[in-house]
Amino acid sequence: MDESLRRAVERVIADATGEPAKIRGGHGMGGGCINSATVITLEDGRRLFLKSNPSPLPGMFEREAEGLQALADVGVIRVPRPLGTGGDADGTVPFIVMEHIETGHSGRDFQRRFGRQFATLHQATQGDRFGFDHDNWIGSTPQPNGWCDDWVTFWREHRLGFQLDLARRQGLSDRTMDQLGERMMDRLDELIGEPAEPACLLHGDLWGGNYLADAEGEPVLIDPAVYRGRREADLAMTMLFGGFDHTFYEAYSEVWPLAGGSRDRLEIYKLYHLLNHLNLFGSGYRGGCLNILRRFGG
Ligand code: ADP
Repeated sequence: MDESLRRAVERVIADATGEPAKIRGGHGMGGGCINSATVITLEDGRRLFLKSNPSPLPGMFEREAEGLQALADVGVIRVPRPLGTGGDADGTVPFIVMEHIETGHSGRDFQRRFGRQFATLHQATQGDRFGFDHDNWIGSTPQPNGWCDDWVTFWREHRLGFQLDLARRQGLSDRTMDQLGERMMDRLDELIGEPAEPACLLHGDLWGGNYLADAEGEPVLIDPAVYRGRREADLAMTMLFGGFDHTFYEAYSEVWPLAGGSRDRLEIYKLYHLLNHLNLFGSGYRGGCLNILRRFGG
């Protein structure tokens, strides 16, 4: 590890823990989707998890730390506690350092426990304004979180509208897609207005790669893109790329059943993430987007 990065990380750890910190060693875990990850060991044997990136998106690690802290504050599902962020000003590569999670086997009933906890997280954080204190990132796409009293407006402007605009600017949409998108946005009141569910704290990007099982086999959430929104938006993401089985959803519904008509709304919430994938990874996701757009905007 580069000497200036090492010193900056030690300083952040010392500030966070109130004790001097000396890094004894580190081993790389290879990259995640975006950043390079290292497990560092301190002289006293403590292990911590470090993510760094020589050219991160602006504020990316600060936003991640704030998101992890927001979830940690609820105390329902374990998250790695963020110790702090650093870099940049002194020429050091930007980084985030957090608790290292010793992983284990997911064990029996993992999905069931996870589903129950996920519903409890949503249930415990109900409020009435949609958004968050700061904008953040969904993958490497900006995610605007300006506060809104009305969910449909929030979803129209900050989620669907934002991604559709981005697709247009990147030359990834065409006339058909634009028209279907416009029509669907006009119909959003009727499509997702009811039931008037509360604004819950959402993980925001919970796909199969964004949870771990700790050494006790308990679920741990990582890499959030938090905001306050309707819970079905969080569940929609879990349904897109696998990693969650039927016991997860059964357990979720035992704690807090979904309201009638959720099937269509979930499709609409999936569209946000599919459009984001279109914007990030290109036209392979066009067909998936158009299927939903035709269904609800046609
Ligand atoms: P990226 O932001 O680059 O997508 P992730 O946050 O997804 O990186 O982390 C990359 C990988 O490192 C994860 O898939 C996970 O296996 C592991 N990981 C992430 N956070 C921790 C942690 N706090 N402790 C242990 N392993 C972690």
